[in-house]
Amino acid sequence: MRQPLVMGNWKLNGTKASVEALIKGLAPAAAAHPSVQVAVCPPVIFLGQVEQLAADTKIAYGAQNADVHEAGAFTGENSPVMLKEFGCTYSLVGHSERRTLHAESDDVVAAKYEAIQKVGLIPVLCIGETLEQFEAGVTNSVVETQLKAVIDRCGIASFSNAVVAYEPVWAIGTGKTATPEIAQAVHAHIRQYLAGFDADVAAKVQILYGGSVTGATAADLFGQPDIDGGLVGGASLKVDDFSQIIAGAA
Ligand code: PEP
Repeated sequence: MRQPLVMGNWKLNGTKASVEALIKGLAPAAAAHPSVQVAVCPPVIFLGQVEQLAADTKIAYGAQNADVHEAGAFTGENSPVMLKEFGCTYSLVGHSERRTLHAESDDVVAAKYEAIQKVGLIPVLCIGETLEQFEAGVTNSVVETQLKAVIDRCGIASFSNAVVAYEPVWAIGTGKTATPEIAQAVHAHIRQYLAGFDADVAAKVQILYGGSVTGATAADLFGQPDIDGGLVGGASLKVDDFSQIIAGAA
């Protein structure tokens, strides 16, 4: 019922040459697995290039962040309207690196989610607990709080046009992937929590797993009943690895 989605987060990486090589290199894997939605999130400076390269492929794309404003005196920012003009389908929001390194609170994340959705982009809401919180056994309440901030501001119906990415912070860029069992348990909890507001919306929303996914771990993770694909950082920068991850979602 839910289509698998595999999304690459390139973070602050890339050159014009590597962007071209990646999109051209990934196009065959995206074409070979039409059941899987494939997307990449490059640094915004490469969006125009990705727009041209991805035009005749099955690869969608998005931004890693967006400002809450449409335009104005906000030096260094990019607005959802601009992202839309460059053909984005998605924008990440609330990635743990934004929450930590740029002090984005749950309220800021909810405001950005709203601004992204307002222009017709699909927000990919990133949530997840730190290692300390994982060890303290409070993962479920952490993700509930992160979700509730968005539900309070935008309503549960907004999740009909959004993606949730569960990314345990201790697994991002560390090489420590959550086991399929641990990830599935949290995904099931997220869906159950959303179902408390609207069962139909909860059943339909794609929930991605993120955190050191590799070609070797993808299929087992994505085979879990509540894991609908992945948000992939490091491995999305390598054509072979990301192609294998796409295959793992098919
Ligand atoms: C990410 O940046 O969202 C991520 C999951 O990174 P990595 O796959 O490298 O852990």
